[in-house]
Amino acid sequence: MLPTAQTQQLAAAIPTLQSRLLAWYGQQGRELPWRGDRDPYRIWISEVILQQTQVKTALPYYERFLAHFPNIATLASADLQQVLKVWQGLGYYARARHLHKAAQQLVEQHGGHFPTELAAVMALPGIGRTTAGGILSAAFDQPVAILDGNVKRVLSRLLALPVPPAKATKLLWQWSERLLSSAQPRDFNQALMDLGATVCTPRQPQCSACPWAIACQAHHHNLQAQIPMREATAPLPHKRIGVAVIRNTAGQVLIDRRREEGLLGGLWEFPGGKIEAGETIADCIRREIREELAIEIEVGAHLITVEHAYSHFRLTLYVHECRHRSGEAQPLESQEVRWVSVEELDQFPFPQANVQIVAAIQAREAGGPDQSP
Ligand code: SF4
Repeated sequence: MLPTAQTQQLAAAIPTLQSRLLAWYGQQGRELPWRGDRDPYRIWISEVILQQTQVKTALPYYERFLAHFPNIATLASADLQQVLKVWQGLGYYARARHLHKAAQQLVEQHGGHFPTELAAVMALPGIGRTTAGGILSAAFDQPVAILDGNVKRVLSRLLALPVPPAKATKLLWQWSERLLSSAQPRDFNQALMDLGATVCTPRQPQCSACPWAIACQAHHHNLQAQIPMREATAPLPHKRIGVAVIRNTAGQVLIDRRREEGLLGGLWEFPGGKIEAGETIADCIRREIREELAIEIEVGAHLITVEHAYSHFRLTLYVHECRHRSGEAQPLESQEVRWVSVEELDQFPFPQANVQIVAAIQAREAGGPDQSP
């Protein structure tokens, strides 16, 4: 895929690239709370949060998570609902479920200690090759390579990769391994992540300040704006969802807990479902509530419309206030259903799109402004 002469040139430059990157890191590396840490548990938590979250957003969640669950034992013995509640707002909740399950495996299979072998680390739920490399290099200074989004971008540019990174994963892993300093793997991996996050940024990389500019093929050919090459992307599918905020005569609200497996598993939400072609919002809500909970309701006023985007689709939630008419709610398509007071809603972990519904209910209860668009 790469011309032989270019590969040889880069291979010959590896010692220079290593020393330049490490020197740059010594002066320009970011100060992050987990940087001085050698505790694999705390590093693991930081790595998992950073899998899909920017550092700036991650920092308060990292502190909060560790304040609640300071070590493997406390996380393993916590209730999953408590873990999801602490995670609320970070999204990609499978990460929290995997952390919880992995902590339990560490207690059961590794005596409550974090393993030091790559295969054992990768056998834990939610830990792929790059997260394992990040943990083992940062905690134990092991020469294990990484390939997160930042590193893919830097290496794609260094090599002037002529295809999107997803089509050259094997080659990128090989280069991440070849470039890695076996003498200082911890600092090298951290430096590479910092270079991608602060200098070799997605837009307008600062090549004039880059320690790798001397060998960077994209820079030499002025291709840094075109590399990494992008995959052709289709527009995200859009789902329209009717949602019910159902009240009983005591003023309580009905919520249900999603099944553990799948997207947003274990989180609470307001019941509802997809609006079928030709169906009104009210008809959809009545049908969904009958199918999911086996109760009859009266659909009332519009409460709020919520737009939310996930990585593979986007949602519009049309939320209506409803009254319970008959039947006892049953969890036909969920793990559990519960009638709760408006004050109690804050105690349950909800996905981000539902947090706005909670706020609208509380505002309505307090006599606040109508949140209708
Ligand atoms: S020279 Fe520019 S494009 Fe190349 S690695 Fe450095 S910042 Fe990225």
